Amino acid sequence: QSEELERLRALLPGWVKTSKTMCQAGKVASYIPELSKAPADALGIHVIDFSGNSVTAGDCGLSFTMQSISKVFTLLLALIDRGPEIVFDKVGMEPTGDNFNSMLKLELVQPSIPFNPLINAGAIAISSLIGGDGPEEKSERVLRFFRRLAGNPELAYDLDVYRSEALSADLNRSMAYFLKDKGVLKGKVDDVLDVYFRHCSIAVTCSDLSRMALVLANDGTDPLSGEVLIPRRYVQIAKTFMVTCGMYNASGQFAIEVGLPAKSGVAGGILTLVPGRYGIGIVGPSLNPKGNSIAGVHLLETLSQSLDWSLF
Ligand code: GLN
Repeated sequence: QSEELERLRALLPGWVKTSKTMCQAGKVASYIPELSKAPADALGIHVIDFSGNSVTAGDCGLSFTMQSISKVFTLLLALIDRGPEIVFDKVGMEPTGDNFNSMLKLELVQPSIPFNPLINAGAIAISSLIGGDGPEEKSERVLRFFRRLAGNPELAYDLDVYRSEALSADLNRSMAYFLKDKGVLKGKVDDVLDVYFRHCSIAVTCSDLSRMALVLANDGTDPLSGEVLIPRRYVQIAKTFMVTCGMYNASGQFAIEVGLPAKSGVAGGILTLVPGRYGIGIVGPSLNPKGNSIAGVHLLETLSQSLDWSLF
């Protein structure tokens, strides 16, 4: 076990405690009603290295839904299923600078494709590219892929969150209809949205996120089993999107303050990694105005700056 991990074991509890004080300055997401039940003062972290040694601190037993974090992995599955040419015919490669659920730029470029696969419109387009016959088969393939990456055959949907989102998704629904009109989506809008709502509602813990991140940190090969799960080139594409768009329209600031590929979700999760070294999962449901875990971002700033983790 590395010296750094030992250091982390000693320092993390104190850092978590300090970052936790940030929670009161944020707000738990409530536009999906079920998410508002999450504990506003929670903060947990799980760090795992390539030998499987891990350090945890705070409320890391908390179960939460992946939400936008799942978009990284559906992108990867779509790349595996269809290849980059088909995928990047339907979504672009540029950050928007707008909120994750903004419709503002949908009509800006010709043809009208979403700017990138990590905003809602882009992720909905990606859902339609997952291989499989109907929405059930597509969702089943997503769940199987996620379980393999997390090394956890028990990963499952939080059906309360799934239903809650499906009943309150007027904005996502309107974007999906727009994309259908523009020929970006094929098939039934409801079927595509069902795949999207389902992957957003997959329940995880920090430990699951850290295992999924570990595979990305090792360029697609599970360092614990030696199994190649994702082609290296696709992981490179996903990690680049995580740097440019992973923290929504706060990705630039996050790159400056933390400097690691990361993806956040509105349930308060953050998945991040130190390439070649660690997979990291964080949860802190209280969000800042951009929709990122307020305490989670603070904790990552402390970690990265104290341990000199920035890639830049
Ligand atoms: N399911 C959420 C939505 O579509 C995901 C958004 C997020 O995590 N930022 O609004």
